[in-house]
Amino acid sequence: MKAVVAVDIGATKTRVALFNSASMELVSKVVLNTPQEGGEDVVAGTIIEVVNDLVKEFSEWEVSAVGVGTIGPLDIREGRVINSPNIKLRSFELRRPLREYFRVPTYVVNDCVAAVYAEYMSGAGLGKKNVVYVTLSSGIGAGVIVDGHLLLGKDGNAHEVGHIVVSYDSDVKCGCGGTGHWEGLASGNNLWKLVKKLRSRWSGVSELHKISGVEEVPAVKLFEYWERGDEFASYVINELARINAAGVASIINVYDPEVISFGGSIILNNPKLLNMIYDFVKDYVINRVPEFTITRFGDDVVVYGAAYIASKPPKELLEIQA
Ligand SMILES: [Zn+2]
Repeated sequence: MKAVVAVDIGATKTRVALFNSASMELVSKVVLNTPQEGGEDVVAGTIIEVVNDLVKEFSEWEVSAVGVGTIGPLDIREGRVINSPNIKLRSFELRRPLREYFRVPTYVVNDCVAAVYAEYMSGAGLGKKNVVYVTLSSGIGAGVIVDGHLLLGKDGNAHEVGHIVVSYDSDVKCGCGGTGHWEGLASGNNLWKLVKKLRSRWSGVSELHKISGVEEVPAVKLFEYWERGDEFASYVINELARINAAGVASIINVYDPEVISFGGSIILNNPKLLNMIYDFVKDYVINRVPEFTITRFGDDVVVYGAAYIASKPPKELLEIQA
């Protein structure tokens, strides 16, 4: 029986899975730490080892294609990650070593491009032509389909929405070096900067306000304080919802989607935040507000997308990675 290999490479975790290429059912999945050192081919080498173990265990399956959704930025022609700010390796090869080893069609796209393709093929975007996927996680990104066309761009980075400017006079620096970027203020890795910035604007009695004066408060903690009813945490989350609304409104204004599917740990763990974003978005849009939904694939949205990319590659990608 034919299987496709589907891979999601994140800054910290990599998911490797086998899918039945006919039914698109997940056969098996392994989650491992993303290698942080070891040279250009180390990530591909790790994927090959894991796939070999899976194929030994599930010997009735024969690999017919490989799909990878990865953190960016990407050189999509080479199928290589270049100068990624979120991983120590910075740059690494994917498509060449995987294709040389497996000798089957191999495709490499940005992780959110894979995710939006999963939504389009069998999720919130099924039957629709204008679909956006947004991840609110350690970083912020999107994948976009307009009029049934998957947007890729000259290097495969057509939708680096995390670097939309949501605050032109902000002095908060993003990981990319820019200021006032959506990701720099609102992503899981950077939320502590927002907490720090908002401290001076707020006065009152709050445990979060007190501890954030002496230490960096991670995103998970901020949301815990919010759940417990901490007033400063509520203030920060309200501002966070506004920043996210500004970013999402820019997406609505430029891509005019029918539906936006949201994923990533921040939204998956705090679905209430999405209702707040929806309420604020009306203040910033010119286009009709689309349907908002949370991805039905949960943590596996990129893996599913990579599987669809492998089994039914979009024509836009075939022009680049034939
Ligand atoms: Zn940035």
